[in-house]
Amino acid sequence: MTQEEQNSGAKTNIVIYLLLGLICLTPNLFYAFTGSTFADSLTKKAAYLFLSLIVFLIPFLFLKRKTAFTFSLLYVILSPLEIIHLMMYKDGVNSGFMLLLRQTNLSEALELTSSFAVYAIVWIFIIVVYIILLTKIRSNTPLFNSLQKRYFLIISSGTFVGLYLYTLSLGLINLTFKEAYRFSKEAYPQKFAKLYPLDIFIATKNAIKTRNEINRLSQNIANFRFNAKSGNPITDKEVYVLVIGETARYANFGINGYHRNTSPHLAKTSSLHSFHDVYTEANFTEGALPIMLTRATADNFEISRKEKSILEAFKECGFKTYWLSNQSFGNPFIGRITSESTGKYSTVKDYDSANNYDTYLLPNLDKVLSFNDRKQFIVIHSLGSHFRYNFRYPEEFRIFRPDFEGAFDYTAIKSSNKDKLINTYDNTMLFTDHFLSQIIEKIQKKSCISYMYYISDHGENLFDISESVLHGGRIPTKYDAHIPLFIWTSKEFNSIFPEKILAIQNNLHKSITSSVSFHSLLDLANISVADMNFQKSIASLSLKSDSNRVMLNSNMETIVIR
Ligand SMILES: [Zn+2]
Repeated sequence: MTQEEQNSGAKTNIVIYLLLGLICLTPNLFYAFTGSTFADSLTKKAAYLFLSLIVFLIPFLFLKRKTAFTFSLLYVILSPLEIIHLMMYKDGVNSGFMLLLRQTNLSEALELTSSFAVYAIVWIFIIVVYIILLTKIRSNTPLFNSLQKRYFLIISSGTFVGLYLYTLSLGLINLTFKEAYRFSKEAYPQKFAKLYPLDIFIATKNAIKTRNEINRLSQNIANFRFNAKSGNPITDKEVYVLVIGETARYANFGINGYHRNTSPHLAKTSSLHSFHDVYTEANFTEGALPIMLTRATADNFEISRKEKSILEAFKECGFKTYWLSNQSFGNPFIGRITSESTGKYSTVKDYDSANNYDTYLLPNLDKVLSFNDRKQFIVIHSLGSHFRYNFRYPEEFRIFRPDFEGAFDYTAIKSSNKDKLINTYDNTMLFTDHFLSQIIEKIQKKSCISYMYYISDHGENLFDISESVLHGGRIPTKYDAHIPLFIWTSKEFNSIFPEKILAIQNNLHKSITSSVSFHSLLDLANISVADMNFQKSIASLSLKSDSNRVMLNSNMETIVIR
C-alpha cells in the first residue's frame, strides 16, 4: 500500500467514524433542540451535547474501535423510545413511560404519532446503514493512542467534577453548605437521568423498582376491609369528585380575600364553600397524598401502608372508582391504590413537560362521566401550581405580567425576582380557577347527587419570609402549610342533605388539617366505615378544631405548626 493509499484510507475511516457517531447521537441532538429543558439556552444545549459526546466516547477507552462501535449500536436500537417520547412530551424517557411499556395504554399513546409505520421503516433502514458502515472499518485497533487517552481522561474527569461543582453551587444560593451537599447528592445523578441513552436504563431501573414496590404493598394489605356501608338507596345516581391540587396556597385565591381576582369563576359559583383554616399534614407531595387518601396522619404515617385507601372504601359500597392524573406515575403508593381502581387515565408527562396543562385531563373526565355507572368516585390529580409555574398555563392565561417564560433556570429564583415569580404563580391560580369551574360544570350537567372536593397537597413559599421559597423545607412554614379546601355540592345533594350543608357552613372557620379528607369524603357521600370518626368530617357538626397541628417534613420528622 502506498503512502497516498494509506492517507485516503485514513480519511475514509474518519468519515465513517463521524457518520456512525452522528447516527448514535441523533436522539441527543433531537433532545437538545426539541426538548423543553434547554429551550432557553444555547449554552445548555452545547453543554448537554458535550456531555453526551464524552459518555459516548468512554467505551473507546477500553474497547477496540470496531468493538466499541458495535457496542454503540445500542444507541441506534433504543433511539425510537427517546425520539417518540420527545415528540410526544418534549422531554426524554422517564420511568412512567417505561412502566407504560408493559401496559396497553402505550398503543393509545402511539396512535398519537400518526406516521408510526414510516418511522419504523426509517429506523430499520438506519440500523442497516449502520451495520454496513461497521463492516467498512478495516482494522480493529484502539481509537485513541495513549497520549490521546490521557487528554480524554483529563477533559472528561474535569467535566464531571465541574458539573458537580455547578450543582453544588446551585444549592448554595439558598441553602447552608450541609443542605446544599445533600441537595447535590440527589441533584447530581439527575443530570445524567436526562442523558440519552443513560436515561433509558435509569428509567427502566426505577420502573422495575416501582413495580416491585407496588406488588409488595398490595400483598401486605390484600385482605384488608373497611366494612364500609352507604346510607343511600342503591338506585340513586351518585358522582363524587375529589380534585387534588398541587402547590396551591390558600392566600392566593381571590375568593379567600387575595387582593388580585385570581378566582373569578369560583367566585360566581353557587353552592361552593371555602374552608379558611386548613393546614396540610405534610409539606411535600409524597407525604401529603397518603394523609389525604388513607386514614394515615403525620403522627401515624404507617397506617398508609397497613390499610387500603379511600378508593377501596368507595368500592366496598359498589362504586366504580377512577383515577385521572398527569403526575406521580412513578409513586408506588399511587400505583398501589390505583391498581385496584376501575379505570386509570394517567399521562406520563411530569413537572418538566412544558405542555402538560391540567385541562388535558378534562376529555378523560368526559369519558368517565359518559359511562353508565350508577355510582362513581373520581379522583383528579392535577399539576396545579407546581414549579416551573409558567409551564402550567397556556398563553391566554398570562394575565399577570411580567411572568417567567420557557425553561427558566433555578438560579432565577431569587428575591430580586419576587414580583415576577408571584405574577407567574398567580397565573397558575387563574388557570386552576378555570380548571375547577370546568369540572363543576361537567358534573352539574349529570343532574345527580354529587360533590367536588378540592384540596391542595401543600402550599408554597414565595419569599414571604426572607429567602424562603418553594416547599418541602425541613422547617415547614405557614405558607407551605395553609392550603385551600373547597367543597361544591349539586342541587340534588343540597336537597337530600341539608344537614350536611348546615354543618359545612358551621365549620368553615374551624382549624383543621388535610387528614379530614378521608373521613369527610365518605361522610359527605353518606358512607360510614366500622370506626367512623365524625370529629374529622367537615360535613358533621362534631368536626373538632385542632389546637396543635402537626406536620411531616421531607425528612419524615413531625413538627408542630402554629
Ligand atoms: Zn406537591
